[in-house]
Amino acid sequence: MLRLPHFQVSAPTTVEEVVAALKEEPGARLVAGGTDLLPNLKHRLEAPEQLISLGRLTSLRGIVRDDAAGVLRIGSQVRLAEIAADPQVAELFPSLATSAGLVASPSIRNTATIGGNVNLDVRCRYVNQSEFWRGGIGGGCLKSEGDVCHVVPKGRNCVAAMSSDNVPVLISLGASLVLVGPEGAREVAMADYYRADGLRHTKAEEGELTTEVRIPLPTTPRRVDYVKWAVRKSIDFPLVSVALRFDLDGEGVDAAITAVQVVVGVLGAKPRQVSRLEAVIGRAMNDPEVALLVSEATFKQCKPLPNVPYEPAYRRQMIRVYTRRAIQALAQG
Ligand SMILES: Cc1cc2nc3c(=O)[nH]c(=O)nc-3n(C[C@H](O)[C@H](O)[C@H](O)COP(=O)(O)OP(=O)(O)OC[C@H]3O[C@@H](n4cnc5c(N)ncnc54)[C@H](O)[C@@H]3O)c2cc1C
Ligand code: SF4
Repeated sequence: MLRLPHFQVSAPTTVEEVVAALKEEPGARLVAGGTDLLPNLKHRLEAPEQLISLGRLTSLRGIVRDDAAGVLRIGSQVRLAEIAADPQVAELFPSLATSAGLVASPSIRNTATIGGNVNLDVRCRYVNQSEFWRGGIGGGCLKSEGDVCHVVPKGRNCVAAMSSDNVPVLISLGASLVLVGPEGAREVAMADYYRADGLRHTKAEEGELTTEVRIPLPTTPRRVDYVKWAVRKSIDFPLVSVALRFDLDGEGVDAAITAVQVVVGVLGAKPRQVSRLEAVIGRAMNDPEVALLVSEATFKQCKPLPNVPYEPAYRRQMIRVYTRRAIQALAQG
C-alpha cells in the first residue's frame, strides 16, 4: 500500500485567505478534490509540508450565465459531475458536458473539480509510478529525481502529456481563466496558459490560484464535439483526445463553415491547436471533403510520443480515425 507523506492542512474560507496563506507558506500546495495531487504525493513526486484545501471556498462553486459580459462563468470548485449534468452547459457547450462526463469514474467526477482539471499535472509512463519503480530505471527522470528524459533522451524539456479531457475542449471554445494572486486578478486565455515544458507546464505565477473558467457564449450556430480513446472506457485517462468546433452561417447540415477549431491533447505538455484548416472555410458542413481535409491536416500535424502507453504510430492513426468519424457524425446533425 502506498502511504501519504506527513503534511499540515489549512482550510481557508475566502480567496483572500488562500492568497495570504500561499504568501506565508511559499512551498504550500493547493488541493481541491485531491484526485490528482494525492496520488502524486503517494508516489513521492513531491513532498510539500503544507496543503491548502480549497474545499471551504463556497464562493467558487457556481455556474452562472452572465449575459452582460457574454460569458458562462464556472467557479473553479465546481465538480466535474455537476458540469456534466448542468442544463446550461449541455445547451450552450455540449462538447464540455461530454468531456466532463468522460473523466475517470462517477466517484472521481463527484470529487474532482474543474480548477484541478485545468491545473492537472502532466503525465508520463516514466514518472507516474511508485518511487520504487522509478528507482529501477536508474533514479527517475528530469521531472522526478533524475537528470535525463527517457522519452526524448537528448531533450532538455519534459514532454510529459497534458491529459486533461476538458482542456482541449475549453481551448476550442475560446475559454479563459481568472487567476487571483498577490498582484490581484487577471484573465488569461486558455490557449496561452500552457507551456511546452512539463517541468512547469502552466503560466500561473507564484502565489496564484484559478478562481473561475469563463466561456464566451456562442454568437453563431455551431457544431461541437469531443472524442476520446482510452483502453478502459470507464476510468482511464485519454490516450487520444480531440476537441472540434465548427462555426456555421446557419442551422442546417448544409450551412457554410465560417470558422473551425481542432485542439488535440495527450501529445506533449501543451495541447496542439491544429492550423492550416482554411480549405474548409465556406464549404457546407455536410460536404464529405470536410471530414477528410480536417482529419488529414490533424494527422499530419500531430505526432504522438512514447510518453503515455500504447504505440505512438497507432495513436496517431486513431487521431485521424476519431477526428474523421466525429466530423462525419456532426455533418449528419
Ligand atoms: C484513476 C484516475 C483516473 C483519472 N482519469 C482522468 C481522466 O480520464 N481525465 C482527466 O482529465 N483526468 C483524470 N484523472 C485526474 C483527475 O481526477 C482530474 O483531472 C480532476 O479533475 C482533478 O481535479 P481535482 O479537483 O481532484 O484536483 P487536485 O488533485 O486537487 O489538484 C490537481 C492540481 O491542480 C492544482 N489545483 C487545484 N485547484 C486549483 C486551483 N483552483 N487553482 C490552481 N491550482 C489548483 C493542485 O495544486 C494540483 O496541482 C484521473 C485520476 C484518477 C485517480
Ligand atoms: S517526458 Fe521525460 S522528463 Fe518528462 S516525465 Fe517523461 S521521462 Fe520524465
